[in-house]
Amino acid sequence: MIRHFDYLRPDSIDAAVAMKARHGERARYWAGGTDLMLQWRRGEVMIDHCIDLTRLSGLDGIEALPGEIRIGAMATLDDLDQASSMHPVMQALGDTARLMCTKQTRTLATVGGNMCNASPGADLSPLFVALEARCLIQGPSGRREVPMEDFLTGVNRTALGAEELLCAIVVPIPQARREASYRRVARTVVDIALVSAAVSLTADGGTVTDARIALGSVAPVPVRVTEGERVLAGRALDDIDAARLEEAAGHAATVARPISDVRAGAGYRARMCPVLVRRALADALGRLGGDEE
Ligand SMILES: Cc1cc2nc3c(=O)[nH]c(=O)nc-3n(C[C@H](O)[C@H](O)[C@H](O)COP(=O)(O)OP(=O)(O)OC[C@H]3O[C@@H](n4cnc5c(N)ncnc54)[C@H](O)[C@@H]3O)c2cc1C
Repeated sequence: MIRHFDYLRPDSIDAAVAMKARHGERARYWAGGTDLMLQWRRGEVMIDHCIDLTRLSGLDGIEALPGEIRIGAMATLDDLDQASSMHPVMQALGDTARLMCTKQTRTLATVGGNMCNASPGADLSPLFVALEARCLIQGPSGRREVPMEDFLTGVNRTALGAEELLCAIVVPIPQARREASYRRVARTVVDIALVSAAVSLTADGGTVTDARIALGSVAPVPVRVTEGERVLAGRALDDIDAARLEEAAGHAATVARPISDVRAGAGYRARMCPVLVRRALADALGRLGGDEE
């Protein structure tokens, strides 16, 4: 059955939010449409009004600001790839973007759409959690900020209120050196992750001052491996050898809550968690100048 919806083109962020408030639940923001179009065609979401975000200024671009990088919600996955050289943390985001979809889809699919769709298998979400990213949100009563860890609340669920719009994702850049890495397994190159791991390591004066590890696709939202982080934080880079990485990565198995589905069994997903964490840690550590695997 062909379903119809009205196409709306707001000329400002305020106008987009007002349109959403006016038209209610069956009005949907439209970014790249790569998730929404499929969901609509399958009848999984009903749309009476589509609010096109593609012409709005203030939502696109990737900017280096003092102490942070601001990624507009409408920046595409291809933009993320192109911005790889901006900073070491952007290298990890660019590498991850290049794993996702095909080049054609990456030029349409947006970073904000990946977050707002909130799939447990989304590639960027564990990495944003590991990078301590924050979401800038605008609603009818103004702007607010939410840490990415709190933004993702469940399968296809976020902390966005009914009318709110995600404007940007802000990635903090600490004074000390930070390196990040993402690893995943997928059935094919154009498939979402069966299981994934993202890490960020910050080091100052030869010591790890902060470690963050997040798993993807093994729970409704990314899961932090805090016990593994504690193994590394405060430790001299020279003191982190293969055994220490194994110890940190081993904690991943205890926090994962994977399911079995048509794409992979829970047992396989659980066994891959420590493997991917170890590989991502070895990569980040190698770039920080510590022992590589
Ligand atoms: C062939 C193919 C391969 C794919 N491969 C991958 C992959 O490897 N990894 C992966 O993670 N994903 C993958 N995806 C999924 C998809 O491409 C990404 O999730 C993409 O980033 C979604 O962005 P979009 O702009 O297309 O979002 P849309 O489809 O436009 O929107 C998705 C949802 O977010 C809402 N939304 C969008 N922007 C905003 C905003 N600024 N504020 C509030 N709400 C908003 C929309 O209303 C909608 O509910 C793939 C999809 C396809 C079709």
